Amino acid sequence: MISSKVCIVGAGPGGATTALFLAKMGIESVLIDKAKFPRDKICGDALSGKVVETLNKIVPDFIQHFSAEKFQLPCYGVEFVAPNLQSIKLPFKKDFETNKTAPGFIARRIDFDNYLINEVKKQPLIQFFEATEISLFEKQNDGWLIKNADETFVCKTKLLITANGAHSQFSKKIGGIEVEHQHYCAGLRAYYKNVGGLSPHNFIELHFLKEFLPGYFWIFPLPNGMANVGVGMRSDYVSKKKVNLKKEMLHIISTNSILKERFKNATLVDDIKGYGLPLGSKKRKLSGDGFMLIGDAASLIDPFTGEGVGNAMWSGELAALQAKICLEKNDFSAKELLHYDDAVNKKLGGELQLSYRMQQLVNFPWLFNFIVKKANNNEMLRQTLMCMFDDVEIREQFKKPSFYFKLLFSK
Ligand SMILES: Cc1cc2nc3c(=O)[nH]c(=O)nc-3n(C[C@H](O)[C@H](O)[C@H](O)COP(=O)(O)OP(=O)(O)OC[C@H]3O[C@@H](n4cnc5c(N)ncnc54)[C@H](O)[C@@H]3O)c2cc1C
Repeated sequence: MISSKVCIVGAGPGGATTALFLAKMGIESVLIDKAKFPRDKICGDALSGKVVETLNKIVPDFIQHFSAEKFQLPCYGVEFVAPNLQSIKLPFKKDFETNKTAPGFIARRIDFDNYLINEVKKQPLIQFFEATEISLFEKQNDGWLIKNADETFVCKTKLLITANGAHSQFSKKIGGIEVEHQHYCAGLRAYYKNVGGLSPHNFIELHFLKEFLPGYFWIFPLPNGMANVGVGMRSDYVSKKKVNLKKEMLHIISTNSILKERFKNATLVDDIKGYGLPLGSKKRKLSGDGFMLIGDAASLIDPFTGEGVGNAMWSGELAALQAKICLEKNDFSAKELLHYDDAVNKKLGGELQLSYRMQQLVNFPWLFNFIVKKANNNEMLRQTLMCMFDDVEIREQFKKPSFYFKLLFSK
């Protein structure tokens, strides 16, 4: 039997980041994953500034090393396509053409997650077990006992950090996080080669097509002429409208007047695969007696952008900081661990609520069309939208009716 004060189940971006932060603070941990790496994870593969910010803290010279990796593509902005097919291109930062390092990246998760695992393997303070699926979680007086099905792996820990993703049984059965369809999104991912008309600066593309509202269609460029193509729609709409996402996605590619041209020489590589996105549009309890939930296991995906990797990493950092306090106080009680909930709420709560409001923009296609048209002709609005990715105060403007009023009457 293995014994460790801190044990992390799930070594995706959330779990790996937690273990790396603990190691940086000189704290030993056990990290377990059911998969053998490198392993795939269905995702859009877009890595935001949050990911860069976090990894700069835990991986020495991260930006220099990562920028040199052949599996990534630097990303400088986003293009939104409105329901009337007008589009707007928004760089993440001003003067992006002269910036040496990109604000974000796009990398297949099979490569990116393996990059993180290689960092994990360099750390002597992390005991990493792969190909080990935890199926039994047993609460004991002084912590948790966790086991795989045939009990060839048994680990005793004072503090359990659950980072095992969107399908976590622990989150549902013990953490009490239920799947609620209005706070959950269904997503599909496909890899294509030779999609035409990709941005020279690797902008990611989000298309809000009138035939597919309130869902969205994306094209994210990847190295070697590849692109991650996918669709997402909130699960309550999928059920209500009885949408077959795969059929819809292929229909869009073959019939949409602009996209069918861009896909005429494109070939599908690999199968089209689906996975769930547990959204952070509802505040949940993220901890309990001797445990914390992080990343998708804690339902922290941004309800507007679908970004979950950065939020998983941020929650991992906060869980590591809380773990250090618990160890110092020798207190792993539910009461003490509530400080983790507070920290996550302080860091992400406002942002997630704003994104929830913005998610509702897709219910007003005319407003979407109007903003895109206006922003293309109005530099101030364009700048406001550009800052939206960096600045929560600017996103706050979108909540206020006065913003739309000013918009109507500005030149
Ligand atoms: C279609 C789609 C598109 C998306 N696009 C984007 C995007 O472009 N950008 C973005 O930032 N986010 C995106 N997301 C969200 C993002 O993929 C997740 O938010 C992110 O992977 C969460 O990281 P995590 O570490 O919490 O969980 P995961 O990455 O899911 O990692 C969980 C790990 O736990 C392991 N595990 C599971 N069960 C067990 C067990 N019982 N025992 C041991 N190990 C276990 C798994 O093998 C896995 O390695 C997308 C999601 C989907 C579905």
